[in-house]
Amino acid sequence: MKWTGLNELREKYLSFFESKGHLRHDSFPLIPQGDKSLLLINAGMAPLKKYFKGEEEPPRRRMTTCQKCIRTPDIERVGLTARHGTFFEMLGNFSFGDYFKNEAISWAWEFVTTVLELPVEKLWVTVYEKDDEAFDIWNKKVGLPADRIVRLGKDDNFWEIGSGPCGPCSEIYFDRGAEFGCGSPDCKPGCDCDRFMEFWNLVFTQFDGDGEGGYTPLAHPNIDTGMGLERLACLMQGVNNLFETDTIQNIMKAISEKVGVHYGDSEKTDISLRIITDHVRSTAFLVCDGVVPANEGRGYVLRRLLRRAARHGRLLGIKKPFLAEIIKVVARENATAYPELTEKLDYITKVVGIEEERFAATVDAGMDMLSDLIADTKAAGKTVLPGAEVFKLGDTFGFPIDLTREIAADAGMTLDEEKYQELLTAQKERARGARAALGDFGWAGESFDFLDGIEQTTFTGYDELSSEASVVEIIDAETSEPTGSLAEGKAIVILDRTPFYAEGGGQVGDTGVITAAGAKLKVLDTKKHEGVYMHICEVESGVLSIGDAVTASVDAERRAAIRRNHSSVHLLQAALRARLGNHVEQAGSYVDAERARFDFSHYAALTPEELADVEAAVNAEILKGDPIVTVETDVEEAKKMGAMALFGEKYGSTVRVVKMGDYSMELCGGTHLDNTAKAGLFKIISETSVAAGVRRIEATTGLGVLGFLREKDELIADTAREMKIPNPHEIANRAAALQNELKAARREIEALNAKIAAAQADSLTRDFTDVGGLHVIAHVTEGVPMDVARTMCDNVKADDPLAVMVLSVNCDGRLNFVVACGKDAVSRGAHAGNIARAVSQMCGGNGGGRPDSAASGAKDASKIAEAIAAVPEIVKSMLK
Ligand code: ATP
Ligand code: MG
Repeated sequence: MKWTGLNELREKYLSFFESKGHLRHDSFPLIPQGDKSLLLINAGMAPLKKYFKGEEEPPRRRMTTCQKCIRTPDIERVGLTARHGTFFEMLGNFSFGDYFKNEAISWAWEFVTTVLELPVEKLWVTVYEKDDEAFDIWNKKVGLPADRIVRLGKDDNFWEIGSGPCGPCSEIYFDRGAEFGCGSPDCKPGCDCDRFMEFWNLVFTQFDGDGEGGYTPLAHPNIDTGMGLERLACLMQGVNNLFETDTIQNIMKAISEKVGVHYGDSEKTDISLRIITDHVRSTAFLVCDGVVPANEGRGYVLRRLLRRAARHGRLLGIKKPFLAEIIKVVARENATAYPELTEKLDYITKVVGIEEERFAATVDAGMDMLSDLIADTKAAGKTVLPGAEVFKLGDTFGFPIDLTREIAADAGMTLDEEKYQELLTAQKERARGARAALGDFGWAGESFDFLDGIEQTTFTGYDELSSEASVVEIIDAETSEPTGSLAEGKAIVILDRTPFYAEGGGQVGDTGVITAAGAKLKVLDTKKHEGVYMHICEVESGVLSIGDAVTASVDAERRAAIRRNHSSVHLLQAALRARLGNHVEQAGSYVDAERARFDFSHYAALTPEELADVEAAVNAEILKGDPIVTVETDVEEAKKMGAMALFGEKYGSTVRVVKMGDYSMELCGGTHLDNTAKAGLFKIISETSVAAGVRRIEATTGLGVLGFLREKDELIADTAREMKIPNPHEIANRAAALQNELKAARREIEALNAKIAAAQADSLTRDFTDVGGLHVIAHVTEGVPMDVARTMCDNVKADDPLAVMVLSVNCDGRLNFVVACGKDAVSRGAHAGNIARAVSQMCGGNGGGRPDSAASGAKDASKIAEAIAAVPEIVKSMLK
């Protein structure tokens, strides 16, 4: 066995299976495409599911990949075991109804023993206990002694998720030696320790399971194998764990230098170093593939990993953000296999940097609260942190719950999980209630059962705005029930063909009218479900029945405005990429007749110059008057042409490529102009933040720009009128002059207030009550502003060290007390804060403050005089 680098191992594997007739495919993105059942890709077969299930024809029946994977369920094991990461690369060879067990096992053996030359005597395999066929292939064909083939039960060696394709599997293990073992006499493959390291799993999908233990053999069984590249490298390089392999070790070294902690110093710090190494890798790849930190879904997975890495950094003593720096090393170490990390490096480091800073702020605040909570719980002789407090920490202060759990565990405590979960569920219910109230669709039913058996609608709207059609189905919007005919109210009308564009791809649904011989309906909106177009209609007159011949006409003016906005979004995307860089990717978009909204990945707010440049670039393209052409082709061909495709979007077998001159080419099913000039003019209205690393631009075109200008004109005219300026061009000058006048007036008021205060203070101080040698001055004032009262108190305090001054303030509809105590008064025991509290409590209020100066509020005006009269007594009770 020869030391082999991780990059070289990847290449060896892929070319080996290429030599066995497999089609090599790049890693798919970590975000599943067109598969809502999975949050993140966790195995090589996951992005190929559609081929296994027969939903789509694979490009070849043998494929091989090296797939980026994320497995958060392993998070707790990372750093502790030698073999787990949350991010890893999985090598795989796949057969879609082509070869089966014989070839899969033989090739695996050939690769492992002939190409890699792993020592045969250290290899073990496991098979499913009932899979004699696999046992025999290993034993008789490959020649592995029977005592190194371990039969394991369903839990370990049978691959199955619910119902559907499933089957036994066979795993290959490497015996790393007793020094890595747990020492148990039963230690053998399948044991959870690190001696026998599973590195390759061969899955033989040969059954169709009914989910209840019944299995029917598949006519064309499949092969799906998965081998962890890092685990393989670990074995080939004879290192302790996957973090010590060549490329990954370089990442760990960079971390170790940055935090100033040596790898190997202690088990505890080593674990942290490994955890950070792993989590930074996951972070880099997740952000690169378009995930941004958020509080749910994938964004939460990312946030959790990133924050956990930051926290372990803190444990090692580094307070300032450092992860973004390490990302650069991750990109460097993966430059050959994953050049996209380098291409998007600026973007990734910005997103990570922002999240790190945010986390630092949250942690500083949260840690203090959590430490207090732990201390209080300890003081009360308990070890369970109260659920309500824990929930508040997360809900109100954004402190991550898993961090709370970990820190509590470090302090030997647990959380009241039951209460916590209860509060969490209640909060989610509230959120769901609000969403439901908004009404996703605006009609009673949310399930589309009523569409069962209805054929897909033919869409004619790319070419015409009015089409002859016939009514296929009518569904009462109130009951979601089909009805043969409709005379009034709202309904969903389904036609055999329609020019109405149904909401999708970020474009609103069309509106318009449907007319029949005896009826007229207003179309309020158009949606679609699995190719069936639903016109949401209101009957204006007559009766509409199934089978009626109708004319369906789109509101042409509105559609034209939508087209202008939609086409401008394509130009905008191209302009943004040209001006800001290729990290700009669409994160969402929405166009209607009024405006175009475009969300995209970018790390910072756009500067006014950038915005102006982008706006100018789009307008330049409009003024060029380039033709907009649409071609229909398949996805592969479209990508070859260089069309921008959307991340994670599911495309059908034919796609539309929308091309605008040489400036923009995108896959898009929306309706577009035929020439850029028809957009008229493009105006950006706003640029805002949507989430960390995602910006939003709202813009408008054509008549929308006119409307925008008219609004601005009106605003200027209104302002000029209010300011009584005949010539609107004078507004800016006049506003500046007014500001100056205002400033001068304020200064004058302040000076006058000071004068009044001085005069009043002078008169008030003259009559004080002697309380044990202190000069107690307490008065009710009317109409004296707070700041004047304060100044009065401050002046007296400065002039007379023995003074205790209390003023009630009744001004601008508010009741307050202001209290000040001179230096000597304070040392004799007078306390302004306590006096303020005492008097305000007498009037139904509360407050307090420092010994020398305080203020408080009051509610009951009728008690003010009484409270002021009580001041000498209050002061007396304080004296030492
Ligand atoms: P284990 O029991 O060791 O966690 P597994 O049974 O979960 O492994 P599979 O689901 O069979 O692993 O995945 C196929 C291969 O992917 C494994 O043989 C291993 O080489 C690799 N692999 C799985 N999980 C990880 C991980 N968390 N980190 C690195 N490699 C992994
Ligand atoms: Mg596992």
